[in-house]
Amino acid sequence: MLEAILTQMATEKPRDKCGLFGVYSQNLHAARIVHPGLFALQHRGQESSGIVACDSNHFNAHRGMGLMTKVYAEKDIEDLTGHFAIGHNRYSTSKRSTIDHAQPIISDSNSLVLAHNGNLPNTLALKEFLQKKGEFCEGHNDSELMTDTIDHYVKRGAGVEEAIIEAYPLLHGAFSLLILTPDKLIAVRDSNGIRPLSMGKLDGATLFSSETCAFDTTQAEYSSDVRPGEMVILSESGQSRHQIATGRQKFDLFEFIYFSRPDSYLLGQSVYSIRYRMGQELWQENPVKADLVIGVPDSAIPAALGFAAASGISYGEGLTKNRYIHRTFIQPEQRLRERGVAMKLNVLKEQVRGKRLVLIDDSIVRGNTVGSLLKRLRDAGATEVHVRISSPPYLYPDLCGVDTPEQSGLIAARMKISEIKDYIGADSLGYLSLSGTIKATGLPEDCFYTGPFTGDYPFDIGEAAKNIKRVTLD
Ligand code: 5GP
Ligand code: MG
Repeated sequence: MLEAILTQMATEKPRDKCGLFGVYSQNLHAARIVHPGLFALQHRGQESSGIVACDSNHFNAHRGMGLMTKVYAEKDIEDLTGHFAIGHNRYSTSKRSTIDHAQPIISDSNSLVLAHNGNLPNTLALKEFLQKKGEFCEGHNDSELMTDTIDHYVKRGAGVEEAIIEAYPLLHGAFSLLILTPDKLIAVRDSNGIRPLSMGKLDGATLFSSETCAFDTTQAEYSSDVRPGEMVILSESGQSRHQIATGRQKFDLFEFIYFSRPDSYLLGQSVYSIRYRMGQELWQENPVKADLVIGVPDSAIPAALGFAAASGISYGEGLTKNRYIHRTFIQPEQRLRERGVAMKLNVLKEQVRGKRLVLIDDSIVRGNTVGSLLKRLRDAGATEVHVRISSPPYLYPDLCGVDTPEQSGLIAARMKISEIKDYIGADSLGYLSLSGTIKATGLPEDCFYTGPFTGDYPFDIGEAAKNIKRVTLD
């Protein structure tokens, strides 16, 4: 039964983005740094994990399904010898979740290893290219098609850097990549820089990480971001940086809202501070009379604190989270869905009894989490529950690395805000506007990818466009 719920959950929940970590050094056991680095990025993917290290022209690989604690034993790390290595935590955004699709991917010719964070919603150009060359492999996902295409050029005698440059125009979508060769570590970012990828330094080694929080874990120092459209090469002759496509920053706003860890810095900004400001803005836009502000742990807590500070209403803990449940349960049947949320979040009854509450969450996707919480907060004796969401209504599928349900599964694409309020059983419901969300980041609007809120995608989404309908907010 539990297994069935887990499987269902894995196929229907908005999927997390992946996490990447890489080390290039002259003398360190690189996997010993990649391993704790990936640990700090576990929130970005819990389905599978893998590390590949390069030792004198030989790739040593270890991959497995599930959380990192399950995938790696001490002996596995010890056996991953080599001075440079890349690692990947995966939560699949394309194709099924099996060990066959676990990353990093070793290419067919065994000359490169690739780890991908992001999603290519439109793989038509890649497929057509490989078909024409007679090298198309049925069942390969977006990351594998990318690897096959780069490998095609390598097999024809190109160096890996040249092969990447040749393949780059065929890649439409979101991709931060780490690529290992027998003598180099290469990092690449799509020209919109949709997914994060930062660089750090440790004892003469160069590190790459999806998020800066992993540099703290590995006691490294952040140095810079890989720029949109940039390729960074580390080899024996040092580091070189090349702008291989015109870059324009279109960073995924949802990294700030939900995805990244609060102790990370994105575009030079503290994620925690921005979430706190989102809470302050949310109060400015949607004030309400209440006795207590509570947040849905963990991602909405900074916004709840910001809301409380701006409003002068007390902040308190009204919910507690089981930190050992890693994915929310989404079930077709309502009672099972509620049980899923109940396994993850419980109400602190004494805290909420007899109180008028403001319940802050970072987002409503399907509406299950907040719906189930409301019912239980009322059962526990809350007299009023006002829901405030620290981001705009989620109207369109993400397509860039968070595998959200089809648009029909997004509650705000189906219902007006007043209908959502009634559906979840709230006394009032208010979202933060897009301009308020952007204002909280302190950054200009045009540096963000805002697809889930606006339906604007910064590249040609191909066939996916057919399944998207425009939504107007009431
Ligand atoms: P809902 O229950 O409405 O479908 O999901 C909303 C809840 O899921 C919010 O509490 C939010 O923090 C969380 N959430 C939003 N996006 C994602 C995601 O991409 N992956 C996971 N696992 N949770 C998400
Ligand atoms: Mg949440």
